[in-house]
Amino acid sequence: MIQNHTPSVGKRGGARIAVVGAGIAGLTVALSLSRAGIRCEVFEQTKNLREVGAGVQLAPNATRLLHRLGLARSLSPVAVRPSAVEMRSWDDSRLLGRTELGDACEELYGAPYYTVHRADLHQALLSSIDDNILHIGRRCVGVEELPEGARLRFEDGSTYEADVVIGADGIHSVVRDALAMDEPRFSGQSIYRGLVPGEQLPFLLEDPKVRLWFGPEQHCVCYPVSAGRWISVGATAPAGDWSVESWTAEGRVEDLVETYQGWNEEVLSVLKALGSVGRWALHDRDPLTRWSTRRIAVVGDAAHPMLPFQAQGANQAIEDAVVLTACLRGIRPDDIPAALARYEQVRRPRTDELQRLSRANSRTFHLSDGEGQRERDLALAGTQNLRKQDWLYGFDAEAALLGE
Ligand SMILES: Cc1cc2nc3c(=O)[nH]c(=O)nc-3n(C[C@H](O)[C@H](O)[C@H](O)COP(=O)(O)OP(=O)(O)OC[C@H]3O[C@@H](n4cnc5c(N)ncnc54)[C@H](O)[C@@H]3O)c2cc1C
Repeated sequence: MIQNHTPSVGKRGGARIAVVGAGIAGLTVALSLSRAGIRCEVFEQTKNLREVGAGVQLAPNATRLLHRLGLARSLSPVAVRPSAVEMRSWDDSRLLGRTELGDACEELYGAPYYTVHRADLHQALLSSIDDNILHIGRRCVGVEELPEGARLRFEDGSTYEADVVIGADGIHSVVRDALAMDEPRFSGQSIYRGLVPGEQLPFLLEDPKVRLWFGPEQHCVCYPVSAGRWISVGATAPAGDWSVESWTAEGRVEDLVETYQGWNEEVLSVLKALGSVGRWALHDRDPLTRWSTRRIAVVGDAAHPMLPFQAQGANQAIEDAVVLTACLRGIRPDDIPAALARYEQVRRPRTDELQRLSRANSRTFHLSDGEGQRERDLALAGTQNLRKQDWLYGFDAEAALLGE
């Protein structure tokens, strides 16, 4: 617990910070704190720490922070810089709309747009933090607020008392239970995910892009990752009675291809090239009305799980980590409650909006042919001005906080 003589959070003998979960959010918190000279302990339920075989899009709002944390050298050789996002129609693959990325994006925002294999990102984060702060095989089953801290309870019967507990334990967060009584909301959609060796789909590598095809009740997205060695594919489908929500649950490629019968040949060639697929029932939650108590706060999906239709969940987790660190840096232990309140106040409006937009896109991406679809296509037509993304990609979470 807090020692009276300690000058600031995280110094030797100072306040103890516990992070629950070693996903993208938890590891970025650990890295960001360590760059600020603040030690934390990370408790992760799994013994086998690795990310799933799938891709993730990282926009400049997150890559500028990752680069600042020192990850440019490890990410840049494995990431792909797509030249554009292209949206196409399900039946004839006609171009509906396009947003320029690549150099234009990097020049405008001073940071690249990346498509990355999750395992590459996870590895880059893991290899940048001290091994000895990571405690694997420690499943948290409860958290209790104390007058000047919080106590974690683990499945193995052990406990850990900290001055601050950061819940980075995903959509089913145990730490979030200390803040709210809500439950995940089932979207009615599922997503098939998989990877195809890049050499099998050379037409997707010539000019790497994020390609989306919109159609009735479902959409498909693909992009290269791992310097083009793999194509990451995500294809939604109505969930029917599929309710499993796990990165490791397997689906059947035959079912996926069947669901996309009648779609254009490009989409079908991508789906048929998949050797195996995971299938995931998509959930989110309503925005939380509070993210922190005096000694407990949540980050990433534990705070704001969103449908993946803005490709911003991980990006926002990275913003959370950096802002939380900036709020905790250099403060006295007595000031922890105010620091957590400031973190929450700064972050919530932005992630509330992204949760809302992600839900709205689940309608827009899946319109049946008809008036609504025609209106959508009209709005998308031509090249979208990248500047429309200023509020999202141009945002520097750290600078915004420091400039308050
Ligand atoms: C299909 C799909 C595509 C997506 N695409 C994108 C994209 O392109 N761009 C983007 O920004 N976002 C994307 N997202 C969202 C992104 O994946 C998530 O927002 C992000 O992974 C959240 O990271 P996290 O660390 O908060 O949670 P998680 O990744 O869920 O990590 C939580 C960690 O906590 C551990 N844990 C859980 N419970 C406990 C416990 N009780 N005790 C100890 N440890 C525990 C878990 O084992 C895990 O390691 C996508 C999501 C999906 C489903």
